[in-house]
Amino acid sequence: MKTILLQKRHIHTGSLILVNRDYGYHTEENTSLIPVQEHTPDILIQRRAGILLSSLMEQINGWQHIVPVSGWRSLAKQQTIWDDSLSENGLPFTSTYVAVPGHSEHQTGLAIDLGLRQKEIDFIRPAFPYDGICGLFRKRAADYGFIERYPAGKETITGIGHEPWHFRYVGIPHAAIITEHQLTLEEYLFFIRQFRHGRASYHFRRNSQEISVSWLEADGNGCGEACLDTELPYSISGNNFDGFIITEWRQCDAYQKELRRASSENRSVPQPGMA
Ligand SMILES: [Zn+2]
Repeated sequence: MKTILLQKRHIHTGSLILVNRDYGYHTEENTSLIPVQEHTPDILIQRRAGILLSSLMEQINGWQHIVPVSGWRSLAKQQTIWDDSLSENGLPFTSTYVAVPGHSEHQTGLAIDLGLRQKEIDFIRPAFPYDGICGLFRKRAADYGFIERYPAGKETITGIGHEPWHFRYVGIPHAAIITEHQLTLEEYLFFIRQFRHGRASYHFRRNSQEISVSWLEADGNGCGEACLDTELPYSISGNNFDGFIITEWRQCDAYQKELRRASSENRSVPQPGMA
């Protein structure tokens, strides 16, 4: 086991950062942006999210029927979209469908608006129905780390109207857990707080992998110490306000083998994710 020191700036980075009306996006270092697809070089997304989105689209032959409408936005771009919508559509519409500048997920490079390929595409509210190819995309999205970020019925939690077209990369396995439990990102980040790093973890099984997720609250200085088996894959993301979500992968087979060996040697094995 190794201790990983986490610093205050890490709270504001990672695939699980919460950006909404309460928590703004303050990091403007999007060095790892790539085009969502080759035909739309101006629509950008963070590299890892982009690679997974491409795999998903390839799987379902998605780009035949779906177009990327909006990806990463700078703060200035978000301000322009807000100002234009305000003068064209008025405040009630704009505040329902456009995030206040500084508080848009699009600034993180982790969000993508998708639309069904058709003659006229509405930039703010593109059509992305629940059936056909769009339905298939939704069905597979969680396996590739994406969630529908603003579902119907959760408007008071997200602070944004129902947006069937807006998808957010949160990573694997978080997208699957969120989708399975029908949570929003806000609710998930609250839910995961009960699994305190070093004491408990949420277990998720994916193919032959056992994945554990735990929560580490930052100390008074915004820092934290995670204790991990660094020989196994892991990822750490901030939540953008007070701590870190730690995800650890472990092969079930290896774990089972170790369990068997341990039981023959009459010793116990910590559960995956338990420090
Ligand atoms: Zn959007």
